[in-house]
Amino acid sequence: MTVLVLGGGVLGTATAYFLARDGHEVEVVERQRALAQDASSGNAGLIAPGHSFSWASPAAPRMLLRSLAGAATAIRVKPRIDPELVRWGIRFLRECPSDRAVANTLVKLRLCQYSQGVMEELVAKEEIDYGHVSAGVLYLYRDERELELGYKKSSLLREHGQEQEVLDADACVEYEPALESARDRIVGAVLGKTDSSGDCERFTYELAGRCRKLGVRFRLGTAVHRLVHSEDRVTGAVVDGELVEADHYVLSLGVDSPAVARTVGQRLPMYPAKGYSVTFPIREKDRPPSHGGVDEATLVAWSNFGDRLRMSSTAEFAGYSRSWGESDFSNIHKMAAELFPAAADYGAGEYRACLRPMTPGGPPIVGYGRHRNLLYNTGHGHMGWTMACGSAKIAADILAGRDTDIDVRGMEVPA
Ligand SMILES: Cc1cc2nc3c(=O)[nH]c(=O)nc-3n(C[C@H](O)[C@H](O)[C@H](O)COP(=O)(O)OP(=O)(O)OC[C@H]3O[C@@H](n4cnc5c(N)ncnc54)[C@H](O)[C@@H]3O)c2cc1C
Repeated sequence: MTVLVLGGGVLGTATAYFLARDGHEVEVVERQRALAQDASSGNAGLIAPGHSFSWASPAAPRMLLRSLAGAATAIRVKPRIDPELVRWGIRFLRECPSDRAVANTLVKLRLCQYSQGVMEELVAKEEIDYGHVSAGVLYLYRDERELELGYKKSSLLREHGQEQEVLDADACVEYEPALESARDRIVGAVLGKTDSSGDCERFTYELAGRCRKLGVRFRLGTAVHRLVHSEDRVTGAVVDGELVEADHYVLSLGVDSPAVARTVGQRLPMYPAKGYSVTFPIREKDRPPSHGGVDEATLVAWSNFGDRLRMSSTAEFAGYSRSWGESDFSNIHKMAAELFPAAADYGAGEYRACLRPMTPGGPPIVGYGRHRNLLYNTGHGHMGWTMACGSAKIAADILAGRDTDIDVRGMEVPA
């Protein structure tokens, strides 16, 4: 079967890989001149089922209200007249009661755990090097009460298979010696023992190389403008003025998925959550953290990619702009100075903003909507790097008419 995969982020590329392994003739269309230049290149690098909580939770409405009142919260809304944001926001609020938060978290956790296993197999089979660090991730706390609450909150994840333990400040420093000078600033951490980290952009490039060997073609620098349909089938994709036809289509356009889906009458409840990301070179004399982590006070996350230290933070609901200013990185600089003052060359950072494709509840959208040959694999939000390989395998299974390895309820295309 011929399959046109729309979008060359980590989701589109991983889906192309599993489809090609099934023997399909696959082409990927990507607007940028290189793969994985959007969310997939700016993320924090954590492969972390241990952080798969849904953002829509009983605590979220208060945080959003504080942000509207001007507080510098980790998740914030920029007040603007934007009907799309209002519609998405109402759906988000409906997902905030605790029963919905638990249900969404468990859907995400199941996919994250499955995906981590699929990725391990893939990486071993294809011998992919992507700066992987597998010895756990630290969720750091600076306040005893917050640590206690954090550990209690993550009992849901432990009950469903995540291995975690609490470390006090000394144990944190023993585990992560780069924290030595910050010993008095932290009270401890929840250690996600099986969580890991790695460079998503590098992984995507490497995987694209394996895809090419399987016959996948990549059309780079080529934008999809709209889809064409007849009754319940998509009959083509208008790609830079040309109609490209295939037997099947997969939509993985990140935050642009809703705009293209709308051209064939499919609504996708997704909105961008902007994040700020900076990559610092690591010099020989530096003392970088060797494991990934999150400072739970500021929600700044980091990963060590070998020669570079990635730090990212913030979720801002502010439309589709990828603009940024120096002040958007102040919490990253503050955290770096407080916890890892000698970790990297902080004067030589590469700065950027990128957009997470967020659904209101958090789980992605994987499956068919109105058209029986248009498969959605999009909306992976804040854990999309972790979910990518599992989600791609599921998409290939669905397309082949096979049973999926895990229950995919909660990821359906909304009616
Ligand atoms: C700051 C930040 C930190 C994050 N940290 C983590 C983390 O630590 N762990 C984790 O698991 N996840 C993390 N994520 C989430 C993760 O990065 C995303 O969920 C994931 O990268 C989404 O991948 P994607 O392929 O769906 O989207 P994208 O990477 O955005 O890819 C979509 C692709 O579609 C292309 N495209 C769009 N429109 C068109 C068009 N019309 N025609 C052709 N091509 C088009 C784009 O150019 C892009 O390449 C983070 C995200 C951000 C922003």
